[in-house]
Amino acid sequence: MKQLLFALIDCNNFFVSCERIFRPDLAHRPVVVLSSNDGCAVARSNEAKALGIPMGAPAFKYRDLFRDNGVVQFSANFELYGDISDRISRLLTAVTPHIELYSVDESFLDLQELDIADYAVWGQALRQRIMREIGVPTSIGIATSKTLAKLATEHVKKMPALRGALDLITASASEQAAYLQATTIEDIWGVGRRLAPKLKAESIFTAHDLARMNPRRAQQLMGIHGRQMVTELNGTSCLPLEKVSKVRQTVMHGRQFGEDTNDVRVLEAAVASLTAKAAFRLRNDSLLARGACITLSTNRLKPGYQQVSRYLTFITPTADTGIITQQLMLALGTMYNSRSQYHRANVLLYNLQPETALQADLFGDVDLVASSQSLHRMEALDAINKRYGSSTIRFAAEDLSRAWQPKRQLRSPRYTTRWTDLPSAQLSL
Ligand SMILES: [Mg+2]
Repeated sequence: MKQLLFALIDCNNFFVSCERIFRPDLAHRPVVVLSSNDGCAVARSNEAKALGIPMGAPAFKYRDLFRDNGVVQFSANFELYGDISDRISRLLTAVTPHIELYSVDESFLDLQELDIADYAVWGQALRQRIMREIGVPTSIGIATSKTLAKLATEHVKKMPALRGALDLITASASEQAAYLQATTIEDIWGVGRRLAPKLKAESIFTAHDLARMNPRRAQQLMGIHGRQMVTELNGTSCLPLEKVSKVRQTVMHGRQFGEDTNDVRVLEAAVASLTAKAAFRLRNDSLLARGACITLSTNRLKPGYQQVSRYLTFITPTADTGIITQQLMLALGTMYNSRSQYHRANVLLYNLQPETALQADLFGDVDLVASSQSLHRMEALDAINKRYGSSTIRFAAEDLSRAWQPKRQLRSPRYTTRWTDLPSAQLSL
């Protein structure tokens, strides 16, 4: 059997690293990025980790620690992070088209078709290139299975001497064993909190122990997934590269309001704006939706928590912001309760199909003429917004109120995607 070769490129503390591109003054300072509504830490710099700030730390609980240690806080700037992520994907796709975009900050590459003399040197060079061209530090793990590549990156993060890349392919058997021994069970990809106690009960504490486990026993304990982990840890790949073309199944946009509200205009504006974003994503992927769902919920932490949803079906699948908004507004009217204080709204578009698959159904219910008019209308809207900035043209309902927008008081400028947010430099002669 042909041996597979994988590299995992994992961005270090990704959101924090994106912020630092434009704020080099933050290089060695503790930095955290906070979730929507500035609630809790979703990314931490190494310095912030060293202060003992855990993932998900609620900002209000750590206020004193943040202040006493000069921790720099940012509200999440997803527009910036998404753009930086796209830039890294483009760079990697130019290295090889055999790429799996695993998450916003991790990609697997299949190296089989590349001519590489020394994997570690190749990895270090790629890391330097990403640093130079994009400014994000990465950790690169190279191995014959994805699970081992993932394990390698974890060691790269902890060992600066590796200079950003670890090659487990040419490593000697004793070196490999040492890395596996130094990996605790919780740090193995796919083990997680649920499986770790089961393995410990079997006296399996490290990746090395798991690699030596009887595959049949692993399967009894954890299903086929367990057997695969054992095989992968021994260097044989069971998990192939999954190409990008996974068709999107749903598009969801949701927002927590800046303050709880029962103002129907605020809800309408929020739903209109979420719908506009979701429909734009559909059009961007050349998809149409047959179904939409709107959900309103009150604050889970307050008494009388409630969550209400309405589902809609479109006879003619659509990606038309106007059509979807109009239907969702009607649904909103039927679910709104003037005594409720709403905390969050979600808009979900589902039952998606490619634009090209739209065909007249047997009974002629699908209106192809209207559908093609709608596609043209939306093309014009997207073209104008692309040229003159997003939301140049928008639906009036989006403007009913801005009060629903979440608090993001600490968000950095969207340096790479908005002309107005470009960093400025002053030159004194
Ligand atoms: Mg990462």
